[in-house]
Amino acid sequence: MTKQSVSIVRYRENNETIRNALELCDGFKELKANDKILIKPNIVMASRRKKIPLYGVVTTTRVIEDIIILLSEYGCNDITIGEGSPFHKELELSTLNGFKSTGLTRVAEKYGVKLVDFNKSEFRSVDLGPTKVKLARESLENDFLINVPVLKTHVQTTVSLSLKNLKGCLKQSSKMKFHKTGLEEMIARLNTVLKPKLSVIDGVYSLERGPSTSGRAYRTNLIIASRDAFSGDIVGATCLGIDPLTVEYLTQYGALTGQSSSLEDIEIKGESVDDVIFPLEWRMMKAEQIMADYDIKGATFQWPGNTLCTNCAIMSDAFLGVFLKDYKGSYFNNIEFLMGDKVHPLEESKLVFLLGNCAVKNNSDCDKAVKISGCPVGVGDSIVKVYNTLGKFKGKKLLAVRMLKGMAEKLGIYEETLPRTFSYDQPDFDRAFYR
Ligand code: SF4
Repeated sequence: MTKQSVSIVRYRENNETIRNALELCDGFKELKANDKILIKPNIVMASRRKKIPLYGVVTTTRVIEDIIILLSEYGCNDITIGEGSPFHKELELSTLNGFKSTGLTRVAEKYGVKLVDFNKSEFRSVDLGPTKVKLARESLENDFLINVPVLKTHVQTTVSLSLKNLKGCLKQSSKMKFHKTGLEEMIARLNTVLKPKLSVIDGVYSLERGPSTSGRAYRTNLIIASRDAFSGDIVGATCLGIDPLTVEYLTQYGALTGQSSSLEDIEIKGESVDDVIFPLEWRMMKAEQIMADYDIKGATFQWPGNTLCTNCAIMSDAFLGVFLKDYKGSYFNNIEFLMGDKVHPLEESKLVFLLGNCAVKNNSDCDKAVKISGCPVGVGDSIVKVYNTLGKFKGKKLLAVRMLKGMAEKLGIYEETLPRTFSYDQPDFDRAFYR
């Protein structure tokens, strides 16, 4: 059996890292100068708001630019960057805002590259077995797909690497279907249809407790490249200190294709895994721990599992973020926040906030619930209803302050910071990677 090659290269800011990584894994072996090329980065959460940190959350623009330079040297001039980012009006999240705030718009203009918002694309229907899904036309109609995910952990799927990144090619409604049908199996099946010819895992920054801004980023300076996405992911997971056999979408893909998940069946070039391994925690912090960090007693939330779609997950990050800050040091008589499908209130909870259509629908008979509908549920709507319900005086006062902050944000004179217990300082955390 021929071993797949995966290169591991330490990132150095000299334009040569990506070239080196691609030479080692023969990344352009199947490339032709007149190929129609699609680059798929990971822009899961990038808003117009500058204070949302990008490190380890989205692909660094610098790595994308380095890939484009190499493609141009090769004579390629039909290059598209495509992504379908989560859309969230209140947080100003959209693919377009993601392209702008990461600097991809500038890069596209500089090199004559097309930008495509998959959310606004034409879609093609594809049968993945358990269900049919819709994929952006560009993800299917290209000659050379280059997948550029981030080296990061993921609270739902343990890691989010090349195979997971292709979920961004789906129509939003199909992404929701993925969560309801079985996220891991659907990711595995999607990758039997979409076959990148090159995967470059961007580990300039890596994210603990990913995939979004509630995680913590580290400067890890790694690039992992392969012509085989699955082998690249096996190596990527191992570099994060995670046994690939515990990553269900990888084991399911291995079972579907008969491909080995063993590191021994991969030819690693460049650095060795042992020299670069950087173990990161992927599990979400326990609710008690998060509440205790803010000295909040008598409030909790349950882990909603994989049925929670990305849009509601982003909302929960934002909502819990402001709740924790506003109610720091408060005591409650057993309140609970509930999101996602198939989750039911704890017996001891006296007041339950059902956030989003899934939680509302599945607990329609709950007589201790405040129901807040929406698909995804709105951050502002949740704040108004939760704050109004909690404490006649404190809740209303906090709500008034929150509304003033909201107006000030719209006027551009105030920016909400998401609560974090750490800071990202120069020189390791360098915004120039996204310009
Ligand atoms: S309510 Fe939230 S979790 Fe449920 S389908 Fe809508 S976005 Fe997904």
